[in-house]
Amino acid sequence: MRESLRVGHGFDVHPFSDDPARRLVLGGVAFDEGRGLAGHSDADVVAHAVADAFLGAAGLGDLGSHFPDTDPGWAGADSVALLAEVIRRLAEAGFRPGNADCSVVLDAPRLAPHHQAMEARLGAAVGAPVSVKATRAEGLGALGRGEGIACWAVALVEGPVAAAAGDGDAAGDDVPV
Ligand SMILES: [Zn+2]
Repeated sequence: MRESLRVGHGFDVHPFSDDPARRLVLGGVAFDEGRGLAGHSDADVVAHAVADAFLGAAGLGDLGSHFPDTDPGWAGADSVALLAEVIRRLAEAGFRPGNADCSVVLDAPRLAPHHQAMEARLGAAVGAPVSVKATRAEGLGALGRGEGIACWAVALVEGPVAAAAGDGDAAGDDVPV
């Protein structure tokens, strides 16, 4: 069967939490330093952006439609498990992950000490290479003021040509969970 390549994009942002008990989790790695992010799940902004990029590449809607934040079952959830479930749903629809790349925007803490662990955890969940890069907002806007962390991601998938045709905008579709 002929295969087609499709690209997807994901973006996510979470503010820092006021709750001192919340841990910062990025790319499935819990940090000892830095404030935790606010959110319904573990607020792993990197895992969320990567998952959204893969859903976008396959035209399967967005993360919110698959895992609504009104669902108590996902409260405090390990977002890397959500990412693995996204990849399973892609496989069901006939798509194979190619790779993903993400840019995390934050001033602190430093990602470098956790960089390899993040790539390993995300790559294991996806079953394909995931690269993680970090950059600073250079004092500009909310991210520059250290009010939260944002992540942009792109992902590539291979899929059947038939599934790729005429499916350009599935965002907001009701996807059965
Ligand atoms: Zn998120």
